[in-house]
Amino acid sequence: MRIVVTGGAGFIGSAVVRYLVKDVGAEVLTLDKLTYAGNLANLDPVIDNPAHRFVQADICDAAAVSEVFKTFEPTRIYHLAAESHVDRSITGAKDFVETNVIGTFTLLEAARRYWNDLDGSSKDSFRFLHVSTDEVYGSLGAEGLFSETTPYDPSSPYSASKAASDHLAVAWHRTYWLPTLVSNCSNNYGPYHFPEKLIPLIILNALHGKSLPVYGDGSNIRDWLYVEDHAKALHLIASEGRLGETYNVGGRNERRNIDVVKAVCEILDRLAPKSHPHADLITYVTDRPGHDARYAIDATKLESELGWRAHENFETGIEKTVRWYLDNESWWRPLRDKVYTGERLGVLATE
Ligand code: NAD
Repeated sequence: MRIVVTGGAGFIGSAVVRYLVKDVGAEVLTLDKLTYAGNLANLDPVIDNPAHRFVQADICDAAAVSEVFKTFEPTRIYHLAAESHVDRSITGAKDFVETNVIGTFTLLEAARRYWNDLDGSSKDSFRFLHVSTDEVYGSLGAEGLFSETTPYDPSSPYSASKAASDHLAVAWHRTYWLPTLVSNCSNNYGPYHFPEKLIPLIILNALHGKSLPVYGDGSNIRDWLYVEDHAKALHLIASEGRLGETYNVGGRNERRNIDVVKAVCEILDRLAPKSHPHADLITYVTDRPGHDARYAIDATKLESELGWRAHENFETGIEKTVRWYLDNESWWRPLRDKVYTGERLGVLATE
């Protein structure tokens, strides 16, 4: 099995690469532009492994992508490269349209040319997995869950660009028979999460005695999944899912944002106590425009068709995550010093 993972130097992509190389025994080529969110240190556990190679390239660069396909001869493509941060999409949507829409189009076209030239069993077994988010479905009220048939209703430039890319991946199957599958997952958390996202931001701000910014009244609900459970789900979907289908991925762990922040504070009170409870640092800030109230995934299709179950619940996963940040200052220190110093870190409060 030879798998190209786009965005493999990012948060989820690197979890996928580590899982494929160390647990599955696949040969993996990470294709990543190394934007601010890409970090080769995320791949440290596999960087010297002969089963892994890295190519720095932009998915919008058709020639570079085709060259990778020609030389590596992948049997699968797992596409995770994206601009992924909702707040950045609100202040600068262009990069999101370029990478998430044009980049996915470029990759699908390069994959189609490559796949058309395959023959026999190589052609039949080829897979293109497009990895996406539950944010494409918009916002839920107090009741109900997102299923694979929920109509798309994206609210932010990020989710709108991901929705467009999902439609492209499905259309390339229906129109050209390219063997694509799409996954839509809820919020991930875990090790190697870039410190602009809610959970690592809260952990690091709390450790530094800085305010813990929470949007609005903190009542927005997200459905949290430990990143390693997502990585396993993606490989399962690509291996056993039905072509042209969409699979929702979620761990049935709905939490209000304020409760996530308090859970992190309670763990830190135990593991890294200060003179005052960490929750004293919580500060409510002006809500994000277009902030969806609630996301929650119905993962029945993935569970019943493919037998998937999340290994971690929120309590075990968040404890592991906080411990990982406490033990891995050498990973987060350079990122925090370089990108998020002073006020900037204090005002970003995101998912
Ligand atoms: P991330 O921002 O941590 O990583 C994205 C990676 O893509 C980075 O390594 C970056 O360098 C790379 N990249 C960006 N633009 C590129 C380009 N033009 N060419 C090549 N590489 C490029 O993101 P993530 O949180 O790991 O998310 C990965 C995927 O999973 C995304 O498609 C995202 O939409 C989806 N997703 C994320 C979540 C979540 O909670 N983080 C949930 C569901 C789905």
